[in-house]
Amino acid sequence: MLDSFSVRVALGVVTVTLLALFCTSFHRTRSPYAGWWSLALLEFMAGNAAFLFNGTSHQQWANPAGNVLVVAGAFSVWAGARSLRGLKTAGWQLAAGPAITAVASVLESPATNVWSGGFVYLAMMTAGIALAARDLWLIKASHSQVHKALSLAAGLLGTYYLGRWTVYTLEGPASDTFRSYFGPGPSGLVSLVLLVTVSFSMTALTSDQLIKGLKERAARDHLTGLLNRGTFLELATSELNRLHSTGSGAAVVLADLDHFKAVNDEYGHGAGDEALKAFAGACVASVRSTDLIGRYGGEEFILFLPGATQERAESIALEISRRISDMRTPDGVPFPTISYGVTSSISTGADLNFMIEVADAALYSAKAQGRNRIVGADRLEAAIIADEARS
Ligand code: GH3
Ligand code: MG
Ligand code: MG
Repeated sequence: MLDSFSVRVALGVVTVTLLALFCTSFHRTRSPYAGWWSLALLEFMAGNAAFLFNGTSHQQWANPAGNVLVVAGAFSVWAGARSLRGLKTAGWQLAAGPAITAVASVLESPATNVWSGGFVYLAMMTAGIALAARDLWLIKASHSQVHKALSLAAGLLGTYYLGRWTVYTLEGPASDTFRSYFGPGPSGLVSLVLLVTVSFSMTALTSDQLIKGLKERAARDHLTGLLNRGTFLELATSELNRLHSTGSGAAVVLADLDHFKAVNDEYGHGAGDEALKAFAGACVASVRSTDLIGRYGGEEFILFLPGATQERAESIALEISRRISDMRTPDGVPFPTISYGVTSSISTGADLNFMIEVADAALYSAKAQGRNRIVGADRLEAAIIADEARS
């Protein structure tokens, strides 16, 4: 028989050490993964501390509280795994398991029964750990491969909890099998091994998340949150190549705010910035999630619309201007009008640079015609415009 007291002490020491590591890491990197693990470890610690009241007059509340906290810890681990996939976890997803556990524990005379709600508690632990294993497994391969090992470890722990639940259900917590293999002593030992695995993977996974966040920020324009010029060109080029290889095309829209310098001069740079943000918002609201939007220059924006025809691209430009004209600023600053140059590539031909050149020439023409308008260049016009632009 395992000495369950010693196992608990060892588990406590490892948990505190790991908590210190994760908290430091969270403080330094703000990585959500480190944050969720800090929370999970706190919950495990508090839950296990509550179990120390078993056998005292406090057992009535402490036993259900312990169950709830430990289950909450398992679901926090799950939320941490989801954060590595860039997924947010809703409050109800975190609260459902612990809430059901609380009800089950309170209903099974927790004052006298140390296994109050055990059936639900073990089922929820199995569920939380299995979900974490699944999300760890599904992390994209661009991350380091540590998550695979961690997913396997979580899978094993989940299987172990499934075993605990099965034997608990069939033979009860007082049975020899349960006490020898699935009681607090052995399960503490299994948790100990898992926590050591987690500590090995912590640095790798936290910095993966940090690097991903930095890359994401470097790809975007600080003011508007749109793609910056370099990232836009990179993504649009590869997307256009992919489209051409499947025999379809895309449209490019260049947009430039009219007399924008005057907005800055009359209302100040801050008001100008607000107008740029509003324009970016109108773009995002008008396109599909698969379209690319970049801040091409100061007050010049670019859209790449995969599969879009010339007509579709022009109607999107119209939609953006309509949204802008509907907007009112709080301090009465009028939004500038917008000029657009639009072009599309039908199936083969035009590379991205050529398309942008054509759209730019069309935009130039829109400005020359008096601004606040959309000028489209079809394939024939495109060639002429581009020629003129070159000469
Ligand atoms: P046009 O209709 O011919 O496009 O005239 P315009 O005044 O819009 O064009 P111009 O190129 O003369 O001026 C662009 C202005 O955009 C000048 C610059 O100060 C302003 N600008 C560029 N980036 C930013 C920014 O990030 N914030 C603000 N507030 N203004 C910016
Ligand atoms: Mg302008
Ligand atoms: Mg400009």
